[in-house]
Amino acid sequence: MKDFLSLILSQKKKMNQKYSVLDVVKQDLCTGCGVCVSESKSTLKMGWDKYGFLVPQKIDAFINYESIKVCPFNPYPDEEVCDEDKLAVTFLKDASNYGPHIGRFENTYVGFANEYRETSSSGGIATYIFKQLLEDKIVDHLFIVKEVEGSYKYQFFSDVNDIIKISKTRYIPVTLEELFNIINQVEGKIGVSGVACFIKAIRLKQHYNPQLKEKIPFLVGIICGGLKSRFFTDFLAKKAGIISNYSNQEYRIKDVKSTSSNYSFGAYDSENEFHQMKMSTVGDMWGTGLFKSNACDFCSDVLTELADISLGDAWLDEYKLDGLGNSIVISRSKKADYIIQEGIYKRELNLQILDESLIIKSQKSSFIHRQDALKFRVDVFSRKRKLIPFVRKRIFKEIDLITKIIQILRMKTRKKSLIIWKNYQSSILFDEKMSNHLFTLKMMTKVSHKVRALKAKFRI
Ligand SMILES: Cc1cc2nc3c(=O)[nH]c(=O)nc-3n(C[C@H](O)[C@H](O)[C@H](O)COP(=O)(O)OP(=O)(O)OC[C@H]3O[C@@H](n4cnc5c(N)ncnc54)[C@H](O)[C@@H]3O)c2cc1C
Repeated sequence: MKDFLSLILSQKKKMNQKYSVLDVVKQDLCTGCGVCVSESKSTLKMGWDKYGFLVPQKIDAFINYESIKVCPFNPYPDEEVCDEDKLAVTFLKDASNYGPHIGRFENTYVGFANEYRETSSSGGIATYIFKQLLEDKIVDHLFIVKEVEGSYKYQFFSDVNDIIKISKTRYIPVTLEELFNIINQVEGKIGVSGVACFIKAIRLKQHYNPQLKEKIPFLVGIICGGLKSRFFTDFLAKKAGIISNYSNQEYRIKDVKSTSSNYSFGAYDSENEFHQMKMSTVGDMWGTGLFKSNACDFCSDVLTELADISLGDAWLDEYKLDGLGNSIVISRSKKADYIIQEGIYKRELNLQILDESLIIKSQKSSFIHRQDALKFRVDVFSRKRKLIPFVRKRIFKEIDLITKIIQILRMKTRKKSLIIWKNYQSSILFDEKMSNHLFTLKMMTKVSHKVRALKAKFRI
């Protein structure tokens, strides 16, 4: 009881206190979207932190308390835009359908874009949509992630003839900082791609600057299982045998003779030699939380609920067999659904309707981690008196003891992976020092899967 009262009091105290984006960063709750920079009155800029993440950093003695309003991890947001549900009411109010897991939407599909499948990460739908946005003059420019000087960053792009240059998923920290810093100097409309927290930040920015709703009329949502530190790529490059600097890394090299999940990582060394390795040789990089941003553990938006269209991998048995890859597609605005329907009609898109339940199934592990276990993580952080982003209470669930243990192990694995890489930067030492943690986590995960299977069998 005493504990509970002191928790309430500390929360009340926090609410009366002013918080800035710098507090969000200090509490390790930033994914580096960089939208806050444009609201900070030149007091912030993006820079690398010691764990390989891009975060806002102070460039002025004055602390700006306003810029936190566009932060997707704001602990005390304004009521009318406090979460994805509220924002969806504003931005996707005309959507015909709604589901508690999928959000507001028009239609759900699975398949690929004939022309871009082979040169894309999944089914090439993102590249197709962006091509159509430019061709149909829905936008004049794209702000997307693309190669520059051997690495990747967000940049403006408008050459429809060179559209495949924007394809492929890049798992390296990127930031939207530049978009809003120079948007007033850009003529014409802009289409943007982004993971869920980036899309949420853009929606918040549009809410507080309504003229940007017309300026940015289309958002392509990239379904995300967690953002990785730059250390993730450093580690993969070393595992692939690169001892020098690396460049032009490819995260999703398809094996058309195998399954879609059996892809490779590859990069060039300083002698311009390409090194490649199957991702299966480095073990589970996603379920373990290795190199992940802590903030991702407080994001409940699995399916990028605030975009015009959400795109991800069809991680379903019947589609995984095809090494060329398939996309799941959730059209959320009428504009997005029109582009999809037209593409099907013109036979440029090979898409079929996929039931909403299968879309959710394709991201099952992400739902279990991000949504089902969210309440547990919030409880753990509350007990440590930490600042917690505002999250949707409607998805809170109780989880069993084994899942709780897995959650604690994942939190530890995540943190440990960043510290160990920062200290050693050697894949051999990393593997050695992580092996106990990873082994325990693997065993507990196996037990959990067995228990879940038994519960399903006996309908417990
Ligand atoms: C960090 C991250 C985690 C992901 N996790 C999952 C997951 O758990 N489950 C799942 O189903 N899918 C996930 N994806 C999405 C998946 O990898 C594909 O990007 C998606 O299916 C689109 O494929 P496509 O073939 O249509 O895209 P393509 O046609 O290959 O085009 C890719 C598009 O993504 C944009 N892009 C690339 N990297 C980034 C980035 N870092 N941030 C924003 N935009 C970017 C490019 O600009 C391009 O427009 C993740 C993507 C990222 C970046």
